[in-house]
Amino acid sequence: MLRRIDAIRILMEYITDELIVCNIGFPSRELYHIKDRAENFYMLGSMGLCSSIGLGLALSLDNKVIAIDGDGSVLMNLGSLSTMGHTQPDNFILYIIDNSAYGSTGNQKTQTETTSLKDIAKACGIDAIEVSQEEELRRVIKESLDGNRTKVIVVKVEPYNEKVENIPLHTMYIKFRFMESIKPCENNIKNKNENNKDYYNKNNKNIKNKIIII
Ligand SMILES: [Mg+2]
Repeated sequence: MLRRIDAIRILMEYITDELIVCNIGFPSRELYHIKDRAENFYMLGSMGLCSSIGLGLALSLDNKVIAIDGDGSVLMNLGSLSTMGHTQPDNFILYIIDNSAYGSTGNQKTQTETTSLKDIAKACGIDAIEVSQEEELRRVIKESLDGNRTKVIVVKVEPYNEKVENIPLHTMYIKFRFMESIKPCENNIKNKNENNKDYYNKNNKNIKNKIIII
């Protein structure tokens, strides 16, 4: 069976300039260990909100956004799946690494042995798939990155935390480095409807500040 670090390593093999928001705790530590980059936002607080932060970015920007989340975090913010299904940005992938455990706090069991996050996502109208084998995972990642629709990928893994160091970067550095990598400008802000257009026109000078809320 795959481990979380395998699921992250495999994903990162296909990443080029996509924005990544990563869940608190070991997922972020493992991602940092595998491949640190300015486009990685290590969410070092706000458990449960990784998917919401990623969704907000995807709705605001043209960049492809991937949120690397965990089963425990998604379970504590299921409303995010509903919002995702309702808004359906064409540039968002929620990559749920499901070890049926709260890995970063000692692998206490979650309910995903009986609750299917893939089925919940589908019930919200999202194109969702559950995978556990490496070959299929690679195929699904490639298809999802090439595709233009909201996608939920649930990767079933065994509970295991890789022995990796804490992220040595200051939280403010992580934030500003990530913001700089986005380089907000008029051209990469979505103007899909008139309300958004008006909003961004009125607040154009403060777009960067608006994005600080991450
Ligand atoms: Mg977990």
